[in-house]
Amino acid sequence: MRARHVTRIQVGSIVGMAHGDRPPTDEDTKAMAAIVRAAGDLLEEADMTTELPNGKGAGKWQRVIVDEFGDRPRWSAIIRCPQCGVFLPITNHTIAPDGTVTPSVAHDPRLPPCSWHPNVKLVGWSPCPPDPEPRPFHDPCGRCGATGRQLGGWGIGWGFALVCPACVKQLGGH
Ligand SMILES: [Zn+2]
Ligand SMILES: [Zn+2]
Repeated sequence: MRARHVTRIQVGSIVGMAHGDRPPTDEDTKAMAAIVRAAGDLLEEADMTTELPNGKGAGKWQRVIVDEFGDRPRWSAIIRCPQCGVFLPITNHTIAPDGTVTPSVAHDPRLPPCSWHPNVKLVGWSPCPPDPEPRPFHDPCGRCGATGRQLGGWGIGWGFALVCPACVKQLGGH
């Protein structure tokens, strides 16, 4: 009861600046509530979150596997900038169960400058499935013994069954 009383007096003293010293009417209280609501809206706008839909293309997000052929493949998301079109991985961000990403999404300083730097929410986000197991290693390089989980850049020949990308380069292939 006491807290409510104090609130009435404060509202009255603010409105009183315009209407003289009298208890606030319901009209005054309504006016104050509208002002407080408007101020709240402004604050919310200053702290605005950009909602991004799922899908392909600029301004959308997609779920991806990071380090697919590495030692620790895991699920994350990638966002395509609606202003400059580059792909922005958010591997080092936290994605809350409701899709809210923290911290805000910035461009890698090695990319051309872009002013898009929002707080984003991935609309339609659902928690990631468990991380996939690392892919099995295929046969090692017949020349140097290097191992790998995918065959991109590997070659066959030079008397070896399988040659790693580094050896392919040294042997003068491709
Ligand atoms: Zn951009
Ligand atoms: Zn090799």
